[in-house]
Amino acid sequence: MTHSLQSCTTLHNGVRMPWLGLGVWKMNNDAEVVSAVRAALDAGYRSIDTAAIYKNETGVGQALRESGIAREEVFVTTKIWNDDQGYDKTLAAYDASLERLGLAYVDLLLIHWPGTDKYADTWRALEKLYADGRVKAIGVSNFHVRHLEELKKHSDLVPMVNQVEYHPLLAQRELLAYCRENRIQLEAWSPLMQGNLDHEALRSIGAKYGKSPAQVVLRWDIQHGVVTIPKSVTPARIAENANVFDFELSGDEMALIDDLNRDHRFGSDPEKFLF
Ligand code: NDP
Repeated sequence: MTHSLQSCTTLHNGVRMPWLGLGVWKMNNDAEVVSAVRAALDAGYRSIDTAAIYKNETGVGQALRESGIAREEVFVTTKIWNDDQGYDKTLAAYDASLERLGLAYVDLLLIHWPGTDKYADTWRALEKLYADGRVKAIGVSNFHVRHLEELKKHSDLVPMVNQVEYHPLLAQRELLAYCRENRIQLEAWSPLMQGNLDHEALRSIGAKYGKSPAQVVLRWDIQHGVVTIPKSVTPARIAENANVFDFELSGDEMALIDDLNRDHRFGSDPEKFLF
């Protein structure tokens, strides 16, 4: 299942999504994002996570074209930003994202944040794009169980993915269990705790396998059945983060990392990030 960088999970609609991809938040829409995406594709990555708000979709598209890799071999995710929520605005925002990316479709389109009262309408627009065959899969981001339960009342189509902050300090056990039960693939943002990797447990486990704390965390994600999208602009780290398919953490080691949980967020709390 998880033998190489091209290993995929199968979403509940049958679409295959790589277990590991490159996140491009905070990369500038110029040489920086182009060179990072190129380095990732050269290292074998086949999944890129961007968003309209990152303002680097143009650079992502440029890197994809320059790589010469066939479009259907790369899984591209983008997201509908908060200001674009609502049925009509979402449809227009998707067209604008495609235009910037220079692509005919994305593989996964997400609602970036639930906000308060517009996400059901936004979801209807995603369903329309999906029904029309304009996007391969649709999902949400930063949704708690209560948001997912609310969506259920408005739609038969269960999101294929929920992308949330997830790492050893924020293990999201209840949400992970709910997503598993409902066949929603959980995806980890800020998997590397935004670089705050200085934990003895991660170091000592890594030493046993000749792996870095970052590699231990990314392996922990995958063994929990969570898709992961580490960000780096550094070619050596881009390669390092992908080199997690040749070792396996034991049950005890997984439990030791689970024990680091403090329900600590480095990013915003969806319950407080309202608009
Ligand atoms: P990460 O947890 O991926 O950490 C990135 C930081 O860690 C950077 O400073 C990077 O430095 C550093 N780093 C990368 N690799 C290593 C390594 N092997 N050893 C030590 N340090 C390392 O942070 P992000 O917040 O960027 O999250 C990843 C992705 O998740 C984003 O890029 C974005 O795509 C997505 N995301 C989605 C959100 C949402 O609301 N849906 C919110 C936040 C993120 P450097 O680049 O200098 O190498």
